[in-house]
Amino acid sequence: MRRPEVRTKSPADIAAMRKAGRVVAEMHERIRAAIRPGVTTGELDAIGQQVIAERGASSNFLGYHGFPAVICTSPNSVVVHGIPGEYRLQEGDIISIDCGAVVDGWHGDAAFTAPVGSVSAGALRLIEVTKAALCAAVEVMIPGKRMGDIGAAVQRTVETAGFSVVRDYTGHGIGRAMHELPNVPNIGRPGRGPELRVGDVFAIEPMVNAGSPEVVELDDGWTVVTEDGSLSAHFEHTVAITDDGPEILTC
Ligand code: MG
Ligand code: MG
Repeated sequence: MRRPEVRTKSPADIAAMRKAGRVVAEMHERIRAAIRPGVTTGELDAIGQQVIAERGASSNFLGYHGFPAVICTSPNSVVVHGIPGEYRLQEGDIISIDCGAVVDGWHGDAAFTAPVGSVSAGALRLIEVTKAALCAAVEVMIPGKRMGDIGAAVQRTVETAGFSVVRDYTGHGIGRAMHELPNVPNIGRPGRGPELRVGDVFAIEPMVNAGSPEVVELDDGWTVVTEDGSLSAHFEHTVAITDDGPEILTC
């Protein structure tokens, strides 16, 4: 199957993307360390801004279609694209943090969900299953596998655990732009779709709801919430397919 839309990356391109990925990883480390009851999502964004400034990087989130911050902060039933601000994290919340950075024109993009203090066993399991779904997807990123294998790995992991995969948003190609083709769905059939090749770099990002997969965008034009109010988790890495197998660039 031809894939005219995919911008294949050379080993030198991938080496350059590691630098952006490393800044994103540092944003994760520093923000994760600050997550506790009482901190505001705006304060977490300020940490992200600081890392970007310290590393001489720039933000691919700030100003993206008018987005006002360098990270997305999505607590509890917020699936993705939550805007940082006055919201103060509370004991028992879960919080999804999505970060991006640009270095030398190359983009990185990655997300994680963390518990705030002590959370319910169900919330913890949602986080663990979503993380496991991302890992399962990365494992099939091998030349000769197909796009459907990625979605199938996510879907199998999530649905076996009794949770649901959000359909309305997908992973994506990434490189000189944060969002390149192809879209990388989180559902799929094994062995179907375009073949994966060395030089593909994709942001893989399962979004998983405890309840139904349906989501709604709020009137702010950004915040996406679960329709049924159930909890949602989100993990993402920027991953390159190399001769040696998958390489996570955002760690
Ligand atoms: Mg992201
Ligand atoms: Mg992404």
